[in-house]
Amino acid sequence: MLIDADLTGVPVLVVGPPELLSPVVRRYARAGAVVTTACTPDEVTPEACAHVAVGVLVGPAATWAGVRSAVLGRCILVTEPVPEPVPELRSDGVPGDARGRVVLVGAGPGGLELLTVAGVRALADADVVLTDRLAEVGDVAALAPGAEVIDVGKRPGHHAVPQEEIERLMVDRALSGLTVVRLKGGDPYVFGRGGEEVAAAVEAGVPVTVVPGVSSAVGVPGAAGIPVTHRGVSHVFTVVSGHVPLAPHQAASLAALGGTVVLLMGMHNLVPLTTALARAGLSPDTPAAVVERGFTPDQRSVVGTLGTLPDLAARAGATSPAVIVVGDVVRQSEVWARRVGAPRAESEQPALGVVG
Ligand code: SAH
Repeated sequence: MLIDADLTGVPVLVVGPPELLSPVVRRYARAGAVVTTACTPDEVTPEACAHVAVGVLVGPAATWAGVRSAVLGRCILVTEPVPEPVPELRSDGVPGDARGRVVLVGAGPGGLELLTVAGVRALADADVVLTDRLAEVGDVAALAPGAEVIDVGKRPGHHAVPQEEIERLMVDRALSGLTVVRLKGGDPYVFGRGGEEVAAAVEAGVPVTVVPGVSSAVGVPGAAGIPVTHRGVSHVFTVVSGHVPLAPHQAASLAALGGTVVLLMGMHNLVPLTTALARAGLSPDTPAAVVERGFTPDQRSVVGTLGTLPDLAARAGATSPAVIVVGDVVRQSEVWARRVGAPRAESEQPALGVVG
């Protein structure tokens, strides 16, 4: 439960079984409260309650019936929901004893400005945040005050923390009673291994939820003024991993389907990807673009055609992370470039060239 109040200096007494107390204590302490605890009803004496402004009862209501009457009328009373029983077995066969939970949060592309409100709330409620590429994501700690922030960031070819280790960290912290936010770039389920992390939590009997994020597949072309669909131009878009080159039958299917092709993780394969699409029947004159580092101060687009894009991108020194877009919708970036108030491109280039 998110504490959406400034409790700086407010004396709070948290009462409950020891194994349920620590996440609650952390949350109130993070909101600024001066927290004391009591684990048995005997500890809740009138003296212990004398200066308490808020009493928090954690656990099943029946357990605290006596306590409730001891503190009633002396302070504001809050009851914390009882954690859901978790019937599943942990992967090691031990009965599940999860008190914490896992929330996969999509951070969107670029910085943290594109987080959803639900994502911001989840971060505020986190005890631990496991994040990718902290330096690029921005100030996670400011949104998750008091939380332990662990950068498990991966770079292509450099798995800083192996996936199994990330999942183990996530599950172990949750099983010890903590609320773990797994912050992931874009949307957790788009080439993000979100499905595997949900499966790891489910396997361990840990409650898990997923907060979607703005995917770079749609948001980054949009940042360059390229709508992935456009009435009368394209009513279908396909998102494809460019991590490995397209097999001829895949390129043929994409060419036959038409519409917009969005390629992620494809910069190191730009030549084979565009070549495969051209060989499969897409005209080399099909508009195509690379949009680099969307939603960052260094965002840049290279706009050309299927035939010219690899050369233009190489000359511009375009690198990952970037989204490659192929299809007539790319022409809409011309409209975007002419928008009122937009900074002028360096040399009034023709629309199909390098656009800042
Ligand atoms: N789950 C993410 C995608 C992860 S795959 C999402 O939904 O967006 C990583 C790829 O996403 C990168 O190789 C790149 O193709 C793309 N990408 C992510 N953020 C980007 C950004 N800010 N600008 C351009 N491309 C980005």
